[in-house]
Order: sequence, then C-alpha cells, then structure tokens
Amino acid sequence: MSVPRVAVIGGGLTGLATAWHLRADAEVVVHEASDRLGGQIATVPFDGGPLDVGADAMLARQRAGPELLEQLGLGADVVHPATGAVRLWLAGQLRPLPSGTVFGVPTDLRSVAASGVLGPADLAFIASEPLRPRRFVPGDRSVADLVGERFGARVVERLVEPLLGGVYAGDARQLSAQATLPPVWAAAEQHRSLLRGLAAHRTRTADDDGPVFLTVRGGLGRVVDRLAAELGPRVRTGSPVRAISAAADGLALHLDDRAELVDAVVLAVPAAAAAAMLATGWPKAARELAGIRTASVGVVALAYDRRDAAAVPAASGVLVPRSEHRLVKAITISTTKWPHLADRPRLVLRASVGRVDDDRALALPDDDLADRVDEEVRAALGLLGPARERLVVRWPHALPQYGVGHHAKLDRIRHLLEQGPAGIHLGGASCDGVGLSARAGDAARLANDVRWQLARGVAEGAAP
Ligand SMILES: Cc1cc2nc3c(=O)[nH]c(=O)nc-3n(C[C@H](O)[C@H](O)[C@H](O)COP(=O)(O)OP(=O)(O)OC[C@H]3O[C@@H](n4cnc5c(N)ncnc54)[C@H](O)[C@@H]3O)c2cc1C
Repeated sequence: MSVPRVAVIGGGLTGLATAWHLRADAEVVVHEASDRLGGQIATVPFDGGPLDVGADAMLARQRAGPELLEQLGLGADVVHPATGAVRLWLAGQLRPLPSGTVFGVPTDLRSVAASGVLGPADLAFIASEPLRPRRFVPGDRSVADLVGERFGARVVERLVEPLLGGVYAGDARQLSAQATLPPVWAAAEQHRSLLRGLAAHRTRTADDDGPVFLTVRGGLGRVVDRLAAELGPRVRTGSPVRAISAAADGLALHLDDRAELVDAVVLAVPAAAAAAMLATGWPKAARELAGIRTASVGVVALAYDRRDAAAVPAASGVLVPRSEHRLVKAITISTTKWPHLADRPRLVLRASVGRVDDDRALALPDDDLADRVDEEVRAALGLLGPARERLVVRWPHALPQYGVGHHAKLDRIRHLLEQGPAGIHLGGASCDGVGLSARAGDAARLANDVRWQLARGVAEGAAP
C-alpha cells in the first residue's frame, strides 16, 4: 500500500506544527511561499541580542501551546513574565489596568474604581448591571454592543478595546463577541447578569491563576527552528501554491512550474491566500473566505539608555485606547517584562502601531514612523532621551478580524468544502483563534482530521 501524501500550505506555526504531528503518518511536505519560515513569528537581532518582532508571548493557560513546547524539548527554556502589571495611557497619564477583569470586562467593581480609569457615573452604571433587565438578541453581537449595553461605552473604549487591540488591532463595533470573547459570551448566554456570570467564571478558574503568558529563552523563533530541524527536507521555502483542484484520484496542487497529486491538503495560510487557491474549484467557499477582513500592523523596536529611563514604570506594558488618537496602540517593555532580558544594557521595548481602518502609522516611511513613535513612547513613559537603536517591522494584512457571525461563516465555509472531494482541511489564524496557543491546538486538531480522513480512505479502498 502506498504512503499517503499530505501537502501542508503555509510555514507559520500552524503549518509547521501540523506537519510535525503528521510526520510519521504520511509523506508530508510543507509549502511556504516566502524564503523564511515562521510567518508571524520572527526573532531578529536587535541592540545586541535576539528580540521577537512578531508574536512575543504565548498564552500559558491554554495548554496546547505549552504542551507543544514540551514535546519539542523546549520546556526547560520556558520563561514567564516578571510582572503582569499593565498601564493605560489616558489623557496624558498612566493609570493601572484594573485587575480582575475578563478581557477588560469588569468583574470586581472595587479594582475598577481604584484604577481611576472610569468616572463615578460609569461606576454607578456598572454597579446597576445586575438589576437591569436583559435584552434578548438572537445570534452573535459585536463586542461594543454586548459589553456597551451592560457596562457602558467607556468600558468598551478604555478597557475592552485596548486589550482586544493587542490581539486583533480591531474595532469593538465590528468584532464578534462570540468569537473574540468566548468567556464573556458564555456568561451572557448563561446568566441574567453579566457581572455576576463573569464573577462566577473568575471563581471557577481561580485555580488557573498561574502565569498568563510565556516565551522561550532566545525568542519564539527557536520554536520555528526546532520544528524546521525536525521536519528537515519535508519543508520547501520559496514554494507558493497557486491553486488547488480536484483530480481523478485526490487533489492537485498547482505550483509555479508543475502540479503535484496529493491525498490531503492542509490550508494553514491567511484567509485571502486560501481564497485565492480555492477560487476556481470552490468559488463559494473562496468568496466567504475573502470576506474575512484583516488589519495591517507594525512593530517599532526601540532601545533607550538606562540613565534616561529612571521614570519608566515597572510594568510589562502600556495600552493606548483608540480614543486617544495616538499612533502607538501598545508598548511592551521587553526588558522589564521578561526576566531573561532584564540584564540587557539598554531598556528595550516594542511599540505596536496600526489598527483596522487606521493606516496613519503605516503610511509613514520607516524613519518618520520611528521618529513619531519614539516621541510618543518618550511622552508616555517619561524617558529623558531619544532611542539609541530603532527598527521598524511591518506586518501587512496580518491580523484577521473575526466579524459578527464569524462562527456561522466558518460553518458555512467548512460545509461548502465538504461538498467537494474529500481532503481539504482549513486552519490557520483566520479561522479558529489568533493566539499562538490556539495555533498549536489547531495544528493538533488538523493533524487528527487528516489522520481520520486517511484512515477512512484506506477502509473505503479496502472494502469489497
Ligand atoms: C505583530 C504581531 C504580534 C503578535 N503578537 C502575538 C503574541 O504576542 N501572542 C500571540 O499568541 N499571538 C500574537 N500574534 C498572532 C500570531 O503571531 C499569529 O496568529 C500566528 O503566528 C499565525 O500563525 P499561522 O501559522 O496561522 O499563520 P502565519 O504565521 O501568517 O503563517 C502563514 C504562512 O503562510 C504563507 N503563505 C501565504 N500564502 C501562501 C501560499 N500561496 N503558498 C504557500 N505559503 C503561503 C505565509 O508566507 C506565511 O508564512 C501576533 C501577530 C503579529 C502580526
């Protein structure tokens, strides 16, 4: 019996980890369009040491991420943040991000009041939430609609959207509450009061109160390097897949110079790339995929002399609400956040720019962008002198926007793909979770789906 052939398209974490799980089950090949692996994970030299300029942290409480690191033998190099303290930059002042929220949605009125982020009228509105009647809305709602109705627009603007901004660079009026805030969505479904439902959620998950994030000493690029080393010649860079079509015996993968026949294809690419590959064979699914919007973002890495940095707060980072109209949307103070970077001679940080429907920052040339970001960062953190090293990294169309109805859209796409020949498996950050731990979990699921398909194919082929 011949060994099944599986093509994994996309050499980001999703594709590489899926191929790694499947390495003993099939003849698996990863096709990566560009000349480097890792997708939105990139560790580069900056100011004398490695720095992550794409994703910089993995959620520790979603087990799939840490488990993958253990399986890859990187468990001993896992590092947790030295501090989880985060500040909000509001009206020129740094305020503490209140503790005890679920993605910025309050569960504890006292910590919200103590932070000074909201005024008395906002606090009174939150306090009255359990007493107010609930409006029934069938199906999905936007984050702003759900959270705004229960807690007020300022909670959305100052707490929830800044946190979601870090993940999606998105607009709370457009993002799906069901897809981007699952615990909030579940609490809203199950409880009359969202405040009480979320407080109950926090009590239930209190045992998970370990570190929220982790990284790997030396940078997350090491995860990519380890996967690539273990996959060896199964990985092809500079190998863009142009289209997929049904073939008499499986699926055909159309590369620049030839077509290859395979039994299964894993799509671990952004939605627009998947849409382009499926446009001819699966036009309806392709149209749905093409409708998933993205935000373009950038990271500006900056290094400051320590003597200029005495006033910088001992926080892992700063979030900046959209309503402040700044270019910077978040600052990660890398040398404070990560203990393994603490002894770097300079204070190193990363400022994130770019939001959906706001490309002001990315329209600037690198030098101008670095100047403007340097100015804003100095004002926010009280730095006394300019950055001594600067690096601008752009991530065009990187962050998918899970719009209202995202889950229903995915169901439709998967249903449409099931109508054709078997063997197309859709994954990647455009679909089921943007974070790296979600990507690791998606990879394990995709690998299982492929195994299941291949086993079923063998059973059907063997039938009389
Ligand atoms: C600036 C930034 C910061 C982030 N920070 C965090 C963070 O701190 N924590 C976190 O959990 N997540 C973070 N994320 C999100 C996270 O990095 C991504 O969701 C995740 O890396 C996506 O992995 P992926 O493999 O699904 O897709 P990608 O990494 O996008 O990989 C897809 C790959 O497919 C390739 N490709 C595209 N078209 C084709 C084709 N036709 N043929 C072959 N290959 C193709 C691309 O070149 C790319 O390499 C961040 C993202 C960005 C941009």
